[in-house]
Amino acid sequence: MIVHVDMDAFYASVEIRDNPSLQGKPVVVGGNPHGRGVVSAASYEARKYGIHSAMPSSLAIRQCPKAVFIQSRISHYAKVSEDIHRIFDRFTSLVEPLSLDEAFLDVSGSNLLFGNAKKIAEQIKSEILAEIGLVASAGVANNKYIAKIASDLKKPNGLVVVTPENNMAFLEPLSISRIWGVGKKCETRLSAIGIHTIGQLRQLGLPELKSLFGKNGQQFWNLARGIDQRQVIPDRSAKTISHERTFPKDVTDRSILEANAIELMGQIARRVRQHHLTARTVILKIKFSDFKTVTRSKSIQTGTDVTHVFHSLIRTLVTNELPPVGPPIRLIGVSVSNLSCQSAQQLDLFSQKEIRCHSQLDRTTDDIVARFGQDAIRSANALQGEGQDRPKP
Ligand SMILES: [Mg+2]
Repeated sequence: MIVHVDMDAFYASVEIRDNPSLQGKPVVVGGNPHGRGVVSAASYEARKYGIHSAMPSSLAIRQCPKAVFIQSRISHYAKVSEDIHRIFDRFTSLVEPLSLDEAFLDVSGSNLLFGNAKKIAEQIKSEILAEIGLVASAGVANNKYIAKIASDLKKPNGLVVVTPENNMAFLEPLSISRIWGVGKKCETRLSAIGIHTIGQLRQLGLPELKSLFGKNGQQFWNLARGIDQRQVIPDRSAKTISHERTFPKDVTDRSILEANAIELMGQIARRVRQHHLTARTVILKIKFSDFKTVTRSKSIQTGTDVTHVFHSLIRTLVTNELPPVGPPIRLIGVSVSNLSCQSAQQLDLFSQKEIRCHSQLDRTTDDIVARFGQDAIRSANALQGEGQDRPKP
């Protein structure tokens, strides 16, 4: 059996836990409401005003002028997430994280020690509350797809258990939008032919679904019947570490863009080292003012945790993949993937001596940042855009 655990309004709940005077207030974690930031998380109090994640902060404050806005502290939430994962690890080694606040746990082998899947979900929820001071919702089912739907149904503080013989009955009344892979477009097409619930979708035959949705037809046919064979994969390679930044004003100046990319990359490199990981792939995401998004990546043979190497990769991406003069840019995102736990090895690109030297520099920088904060040290490149359009960190 699979347990899907999903923290309730995670970032906002962490902020309220850390500052109890926020209790009962509409709390919004995210970008500046007077700039162009977006909402990362909203407390349940704030959701009553229609505030939800990914909406512009400026709209959120119009809908609820008394909302308390807090800058997100991703590395703090990442630490809380690690504590939560230590609780998961007590119950099974098969844990697959989806994001900082969500994970699948395969507890099939844990029943003798801890009881059935429902008992395990209850224990996880109560240990998270007692030890971390946060509320989680959980869904229990015989596959990932149904467990994930179940954890969302009774939020906050929900626990929904679906036994395999009830899979069909459980899915039947739910909206087709609950199906994994059914987006707005699919939903509109299905609504047009009178299909709104998963039960109604099940009435369509496989040939019909295939002619409607091509290769997705088979998947929809399976999911309408509650069939999902995906395993829980406790693999760090599925994870990425990312940071992004929305500019207060659209940016056209390439040097400002590069300065921001370098600074975000530096923060990510620190997190890679904090977690004793290495990364092989660097990804640059650019959102233009017309909301078109491009993503470009560059990989190296051997994983690294050295800022200097990450910087050279991201600089190559900015220089080679973006035209020198292009449309205005609204948002920049930087991430790394193909993470692994192995210790950093030397790269052919750089001499071993050079890498050792940069590694030593990184450790010194990390110490200074740990003691005096992020602004104490910034690479010369990141300072280039200072005084121009550069947003406050
Ligand atoms: Mg959540």
